[in-house]
Amino acid sequence: MTNPKTGEMLHLRGNALSKGEPVALPLTQSSMYHLPGAPDGHPTYGRVDNPTWVHLEHVLAHLENAPCLTFPSGMGAISAALFATVKAGSRILTPADGYYVTRLLADRFLSNLGVSVTKRPTTAFDHGGFEGFDVVFLESPSNPGLDMMDLPAIASAVRAAGGITIADNTTMTPLGQRPLDMGIDVVVASDTKAMGGHSDLLMGHVASRDEKIMERVEEWRRVSGAIPGPHEAWLLHRGLETLDVRFDRMCSSAQVLAERLADHLAVKAIRYPGLRGDPSHALAKAQTTRFGFLLSVTLDSEEKAESFINTCPLLRPATSFGGVHSSAERRARWGDDVDPGFVRLSVGCEPVEELWQAFEASLDAL
Ligand code: PLP
Repeated sequence: MTNPKTGEMLHLRGNALSKGEPVALPLTQSSMYHLPGAPDGHPTYGRVDNPTWVHLEHVLAHLENAPCLTFPSGMGAISAALFATVKAGSRILTPADGYYVTRLLADRFLSNLGVSVTKRPTTAFDHGGFEGFDVVFLESPSNPGLDMMDLPAIASAVRAAGGITIADNTTMTPLGQRPLDMGIDVVVASDTKAMGGHSDLLMGHVASRDEKIMERVEEWRRVSGAIPGPHEAWLLHRGLETLDVRFDRMCSSAQVLAERLADHLAVKAIRYPGLRGDPSHALAKAQTTRFGFLLSVTLDSEEKAESFINTCPLLRPATSFGGVHSSAERRARWGDDVDPGFVRLSVGCEPVEELWQAFEASLDAL
């Protein structure tokens, strides 16, 4: 697995500058472009073109090593990838236990348009059986269960059966896992999470080396109007400049905390792919460069879980993850099929010993 060169990424803009141009990316907040006569390849209109997105997409393409298109949210990117690849009569397969809004999109909208939707548990994808599916949607590690799939094996089995694969890589980012290098056709991601990293924007992207798919995704964006705002694009670009240091800190701290949490008496169960005994450990070692910043702990009861989340001074009780501030939530509150005491925890950029002291004190007090 080749890692993207994040040093080169930081200088992508600088190395193309002319004398006197700003080093930081300018924010172009305009719906109109000065356009006398024939457009001749110039920017035409704000729904079609924006120099701030264009540079952001250049940076994302460097990270993904593939052409990228940005969207106003992760769900905007997932919708674009699915609407660009299915038609009436298509059959899609999705995980039964991945991010629940992707399932809602399939159940509430795609199925009304004559797309047939089949669901399977994440861990059942490794058993094959992809014949007859046009699109196989994958999420590995899954949110919130952190189960993993054998991406290279699934990619080749789906291709042999005549379908395409779309993988949601939100939880790992392109620094932690590179699904396109494992044969996956399309990557989708919520950049609202670690990519932006500061919990101050929503965005998403689609990446693929398949030119025809990217043409359809671009057409979808232009025609549906699901475009990112220039200010969000600017913020995401700024966030990406520190992704490497944030991701490194978050994953290292998650490993330390997972090992200590595993030994705490208040913790009934723990999932973290970096723990040797974790069911995802072998796949994570084979497929990811880091074990990620998400972990889950199961406490004795809903009350204890709520008390831990709401009293720990270094944990924000919040949905979403991947920000500089550590955060946690009980996923059963959204109807995920998990224990009432199951807490998804996103490790942020706080110094790890400070975090551990806060976690330990809050768990000891339960
Ligand atoms: N995919 C995963 C794995 C997610 O966790 C989320 C959001 O939590 C999304 C997609 C959707 O992203 P957004 O909220 O940016 O639309």
